[in-house]
Amino acid sequence: MTGRRLLDTVEMLYCDLDGVVYRGVDPIPGAAPSLNRAARSGVRVAYLTNNASRTPAQVCEQLSSLGLPAEDADVVTSAQACIRMVRSAGFDADTPILCIGGDGLRQALRDSGFHVCGPGEAPAVVVQGFSRDLGWSDLAEASYAIQAGAAWFVTNDDRTLPQERGMAPGNGTLVAAVAAATGILPRIAGKPHVPLYQTAAERYGSPAALCIGDRLDTDIQGANAVGLQSALVLTGVDGPESLYAAPPARRPRYVLHSLDDLFLPVQTPTVGATTAQCGTARVRLDGDAILLEAPGTPGDQVLAVASLIWAAHLDPRTLRVDAAVTASL
Ligand SMILES: [Mg+2]
Repeated sequence: MTGRRLLDTVEMLYCDLDGVVYRGVDPIPGAAPSLNRAARSGVRVAYLTNNASRTPAQVCEQLSSLGLPAEDADVVTSAQACIRMVRSAGFDADTPILCIGGDGLRQALRDSGFHVCGPGEAPAVVVQGFSRDLGWSDLAEASYAIQAGAAWFVTNDDRTLPQERGMAPGNGTLVAAVAAATGILPRIAGKPHVPLYQTAAERYGSPAALCIGDRLDTDIQGANAVGLQSALVLTGVDGPESLYAAPPARRPRYVLHSLDDLFLPVQTPTVGATTAQCGTARVRLDGDAILLEAPGTPGDQVLAVASLIWAAHLDPRTLRVDAAVTASL
């Protein structure tokens, strides 16, 4: 194969963490070596995470344990983006802030000079982020403060939190409880919303960045919304099925089987009436089936199928996709 490597088309990687670098406490095989190789090639790697419950130092500690050297400045959290949003809204350090969330968020607020108050101190701002320890009384206090006029900011609205046993309620689900109780909607910092990317831009400028993530509704939609290149990596939440069904705002520019694909030639799909090609992968629509006519890399095969479905406005639920397309995933 010839052509420019995908990595060579960008100056920086904005990398998601869970589902991309690790899955819970387990490393994703090959991810750390690929990111180290990318860094050695001169591409800066930053980590953009919706997880507000941990501090950048805690994230760096985990990355280091996986063999990925990282400094605090390489990690942009939704907690940081949320605090930036609170500041931009005109609230200063004296503002009493009720923090509904984990230690990472509380610490980030204190580090930024904000006064984290208790519910009895008439909070002017409520900041909400995920914590496993949040209970009904925390959500109730947030609701009371918001009804009393406090401005409401949340770190992220991921509805789900993938766990070993399945999907658990994420911050967005807990936020939805407060929204349902108050009839008020919050301002949101994390992906797919813009503040997280503004926080990154403030720190890194405006490099040609490739956003890599495992979720279409956060990583990919967010990158698309701010006009950055996006790559779905198939090591986390979203697989081919959800990709095929993705609405236009959530469609990635690239599909990577693993981060190793960063070192493959960059490919752009071409789509005809009943065929699509991506790299050497070629697929064809035949009745209600999509057949793999010529093989390619797993990522290119999946993107070829997706491109055909999207261009022809096909309903993936009524299609049979050749099992060979995903055989090596
Ligand atoms: Mg993720």
